[in-house]
Amino acid sequence: MSGNSPILPPATIGILGGGQLGRMIALEARRMGYGIAVLDPTPGCPASHLADRQIQADFDDSQAVQELAAVSEILTFEFENVEPGVMEGLSCHPSLEPLYVTRNRWREKNMARGLGIPTAPFLAVGQPIELRQALATEEIRKRGGAILKTCEGGYDGKGQWRFNERAIQQACDTNFTDSQFLETLEPDLRALFQNLANGGTQTQAPEPFFVLEGMVPFSLEFSIVGTGFADSQFAAFAPVENEHRNGILHKSFSSAAISSEQARRAIEYAGRIAEHFGYVGTFAVEFFLADGEPVFNEMAPRPHNSGHLTLDASISSQFEQHVRAVCHLPPGSPDYMCEAVMINLIGEDHSVLAGVERALEIPGIRFHWYGKSESRAGRKMGHITALASTRQEASENADRAYDRLKWVRQ
Ligand code: AMP
Repeated sequence: MSGNSPILPPATIGILGGGQLGRMIALEARRMGYGIAVLDPTPGCPASHLADRQIQADFDDSQAVQELAAVSEILTFEFENVEPGVMEGLSCHPSLEPLYVTRNRWREKNMARGLGIPTAPFLAVGQPIELRQALATEEIRKRGGAILKTCEGGYDGKGQWRFNERAIQQACDTNFTDSQFLETLEPDLRALFQNLANGGTQTQAPEPFFVLEGMVPFSLEFSIVGTGFADSQFAAFAPVENEHRNGILHKSFSSAAISSEQARRAIEYAGRIAEHFGYVGTFAVEFFLADGEPVFNEMAPRPHNSGHLTLDASISSQFEQHVRAVCHLPPGSPDYMCEAVMINLIGEDHSVLAGVERALEIPGIRFHWYGKSESRAGRKMGHITALASTRQEASENADRAYDRLKWVRQ
């Protein structure tokens, strides 16, 4: 593997993880003439359909990772939970440091804070008594609500518990004993605390198991998808506005309803992160807009669901930018050619998607399907992107097409 000299087609890119992100990286890399090798335990995983070869093994199988490296000019990954140990000594973009930091909310938020990027107030929590103390702090109380999140392993809203004003009052109420406080917690959280106390769940001391965040009174959520390059250049897409349903991204808009100054500031924050890590590859930073200010929520060290619309709407997509970066090629243009709105197609159990041919009657609809072997509730199965000349038209057409799609139980 070479230093920073360009890696040109038909060189092979090795991807850890063969889900939809790996598939879309492969799609763009294939178009550019690269070979693809993918490591994933699932036979026929989405990226394997575009790969020259799949190494079917678990992600923590270091021998299999070595095998992937041996057939690849450069390695990259599509998901956060790569075990750093298995990558030791291998050349990979992005590097392992952003992976290590962003897989843990405590480290991630401290990184943002350290770089002077605004975050929600956050406090470390390991035991119920610390939760009670954290809920009773001035900075959390004045938010009128809080969310407890596991530092690792949670995604799409999982591993989170919300506390409203009443719960905060109970935590502050000295007439309440600690065991009464414990009784107010949701059973799964109580069980997790119990398990922690019994030593059943390990943390990397001195890092906490949970982080308690004060509620951010946001008016909207948006993300910056950007790409760092080996020569320190940074290219970001214009902010994408995001709407969630049940904690999962539902709809993204290529033009976020934020001012150009707010956009500039958020892109500058993302650029700071890229510079901090010497980041090579595409990543996303999710922000809240609260009181007119971008507030850091979290970061994903990989292409991101909110950037899928760039496949159809931008001169270079987030996946092409990723391929260019990891192969030490110059940045492409992240400019949008039109307005775009994406809607995720989230699966249901034992179902097939009906109505595709009717959805495709709507002008400007682009249909993406990830080729997963079966649909399951909450699983990302595909997405549609509506292209149009205005945000409103793109949004309406995306909704119309989405309404024509139905999950039919088999
Ligand atoms: P996360 O997994 O941290 O992205 O959280 C999932 C969703 O919960 C976010 O997209 C927000 O809609 C909401 N959320 C998370 N943290 C906060 C917060 N501190 N204040 C308000 N809403 C939040």
